[in-house]
Amino acid sequence: MTADTTGGASPGGRSGQVLPLVFVAALALLFAALWLADIHRVVLAKDEAQNAGDAAALVAARWLGDTLNLEGDLNLAHAAALAEGDADAVEAITNAQVRALFSGPLAGVSAAQTAAKRNGVPENPDFTAFVRERAALARRGYSAVLSDGSAAMPEPWPGAWTEYADMLEKIAARGVAAGVDNADFYEDPDGAHWLLETGFHDAVLGRDWCWFRNRAPALLSSYSGWRWWPALPDRPRDPPFSAELLPIRLHPALFVPADLARSAAFADAAERAGLGDAVARLLDGPATNAPPQLWIVFDRSAWGAWTAMKDPAFPLRGRLRREYDVAGADAVFRVEKPLELPSRPGRDSGAAVWSAAAKPLGWLPDPGAPGGKAPANAAPVVLPVWRATRLVPLDASSMPSGGSFDLGWREHRAAHLPRYLARGPGVLDASCRWCRALAKWEDADLRRTGSRWLSTNAWKCAVSPPGSSPGGGTGHAH
Ligand SMILES: [Zn+2]
Repeated sequence: MTADTTGGASPGGRSGQVLPLVFVAALALLFAALWLADIHRVVLAKDEAQNAGDAAALVAARWLGDTLNLEGDLNLAHAAALAEGDADAVEAITNAQVRALFSGPLAGVSAAQTAAKRNGVPENPDFTAFVRERAALARRGYSAVLSDGSAAMPEPWPGAWTEYADMLEKIAARGVAAGVDNADFYEDPDGAHWLLETGFHDAVLGRDWCWFRNRAPALLSSYSGWRWWPALPDRPRDPPFSAELLPIRLHPALFVPADLARSAAFADAAERAGLGDAVARLLDGPATNAPPQLWIVFDRSAWGAWTAMKDPAFPLRGRLRREYDVAGADAVFRVEKPLELPSRPGRDSGAAVWSAAAKPLGWLPDPGAPGGKAPANAAPVVLPVWRATRLVPLDASSMPSGGSFDLGWREHRAAHLPRYLARGPGVLDASCRWCRALAKWEDADLRRTGSRWLSTNAWKCAVSPPGSSPGGGTGHAH
């Protein structure tokens, strides 16, 4: 700021200047004090949000681990009951397993709420309302989310959706403080599309032409208007096998019992559980020729190796031990700690937002493997070998672009995008940040500016080679 050009204009007006100067100085000091207090409050809120988000993710991941162990124990108990020829027990065990794929993860969601609140993050009324909405959808059998007009989503067991809705309502009734950022909503499209990436929208808003160069090289030059966009990917047609909040990514699959008993990992786990003799009987007893049965197995599309991902910026390169090189069930939680700034008392100053990811870890004893350990998903079915829980980098988690509990982004995905793809930019919502990005994107001049910039500056967009970035965080502030 330059010097005041009016204050010193009249000679002899010196005494008249003293007061305003003192006043200005006092005001500046006051603002500085408030500003410092603001900064202090912001830092404190970020710290609290981080602690609460980490705690929520860890406790929920532990529930995922407990659920995996329960499914594994029941897989072994199934084999034992089969060897005894106890068909009723087998049926009861399978029923319990199918239900635990829903109740186990939801118990984790519930425990995460307690953890977040104990760490100072209050209930988020928007989160609570959203969970209540999901409960209402479940109670209607998800009929509203099916595009093929069928009456209801097939139930994993009779009455499942009512029971599931009851569980969700109980969570909502206690107040939701931590949202599941890696939720896998049953109606969500399954597949990739630039419009489903927050990164695309952010690149347009921030004129980040390098994003286009590195992620979508042809998009700037080939796009010709909203009718150019391919349709959004289809919704999955299969009936769901596990809770949409905190998906555990397991499902029942048919397995011939004798084949299972032949697995070294299965026999070893049975031995440890004191069921070794029973399982051995599956190989030479009357159950040897038993027909295929339902066991709980890993969804192989989700339970792959972490390092199988090809992204050079993937944060788990290098030091990861082989037995822990397993993606799959993880817990990603988002908390929003409202900011109340001393300089703006009683006004909405936004929130400190934190997402954190955690994962249950287990391994199979394997004398033939280096270190004597093999990844837990090398077993044909889930086994009770889950021993620990750790925070993992958010970029290595199963969180979809933007996160599932960024409710503004969710509304854009679910409501604004289909409308825009059907009717063009005229129906975009000016109050939505993501819609404003699409409105900008429709401007051909803007896209030409980007192409022109890249034609001479693309060399500035080189990504740093793997390992050179200071990775390592467990979460993202937004
Ligand atoms: Zn929008």
